[in-house]
Amino acid sequence: MKLPFIFAKRFVAGEGFSSSLPAAKQLNQARHQLTLDLLGENIYSRTQAEDNVKAYVEVLKGIKQHKLLSGISIKLTMLGLDIDVEYCADNLFSIMEHARVHDQFVRIDMEGGAYTSLTLDLFKRAHAEYGSQHIGTVIQAMLHRSKEDIAELAGLGADIRLVKGAYKETKKKAYQKIYDIREAFNAYAEVLINSTAFPRFGTHDDQLIRRVRSYLADYDIPSSRVEFQMLYGLREQGLTDLNRLGYPTRVYVPFGTDWFPYFSRRLAERKENIWFVISTLFRR
Ligand SMILES: Cc1cc2nc3c(=O)[nH]c(=O)nc-3n(C[C@H](O)[C@H](O)[C@H](O)COP(=O)(O)OP(=O)(O)OC[C@H]3O[C@@H](n4cnc5c(N)ncnc54)[C@H](O)[C@@H]3O)c2cc1C
Repeated sequence: MKLPFIFAKRFVAGEGFSSSLPAAKQLNQARHQLTLDLLGENIYSRTQAEDNVKAYVEVLKGIKQHKLLSGISIKLTMLGLDIDVEYCADNLFSIMEHARVHDQFVRIDMEGGAYTSLTLDLFKRAHAEYGSQHIGTVIQAMLHRSKEDIAELAGLGADIRLVKGAYKETKKKAYQKIYDIREAFNAYAEVLINSTAFPRFGTHDDQLIRRVRSYLADYDIPSSRVEFQMLYGLREQGLTDLNRLGYPTRVYVPFGTDWFPYFSRRLAERKENIWFVISTLFRR
């Protein structure tokens, strides 16, 4: 049985681009930039992958048409990473050609640990061709390998969004304790601040946000040098407060009919989110 969309609307802006526009425009008016994310998970047919390429390009066109201050996030598994890596690369490059011609920005989201190396390899190829003005990616602080990945990508001057990591990983691959994940996040945040032009921090965690802010203050680095990003429907007031303090801010805005897996991850992450969902059922 498919759950009705009303359950998800706290975390998902709409089931289509048009129905998500009012929320997107309102966030832009509140001075937040956006990352639009067309929801979907792994696909295993070329027809689906090609439909997704067209759909991502349509989102880029919609952003231009409606003059939104927004980039997009994409997932390589939606472009055929499970089918064939070179095929996925061709699909990624088709989207990137459009982004280059229309001066737009695409970020490759990071998925589960099985895809980290493939994702970073394709990111580096695309980055060599299109540069940091058009493409970025994500590093998950929880992964042990991220120490080397951060150093390498910072050396390339890549545009990085640092997050904790949303996928369950084994002890061998990733820190399991929140203390260790936070320590890693703080260390990588410093590397990014010191060696990249404009690091982005995707977190709702006040401890991490406070630490980045005090590091900037200690070294007299202006607040305009970093961006804080949060997910649609979570801590909007907190993000607005950061914006008022002079930090660039961005909301990650998911939309689309395939919202169930994303919605389940948000509920699994934080029990309190259940109350947000229940409250939307009673709100008009
Ligand atoms: C913009 C963005 C993009 C992301 N992209 C990716 C990606 O590409 N790949 C990936 O694996 N993961 C991604 N994530 C998810 C990320 O990895 C984490 O799973 C997710 O953000 C939860 O971690 P957190 O640091 O936000 O806070 P949590 O660990 O969930 O919470 C820590 C603390 O933060 C505070 N807090 C959290 N939520 C709230 C709330 N709603 N209200 C009040 N206080 C709160 C509380 O004090 C809480 O104890 C992204 C996250 C963001 C924000």
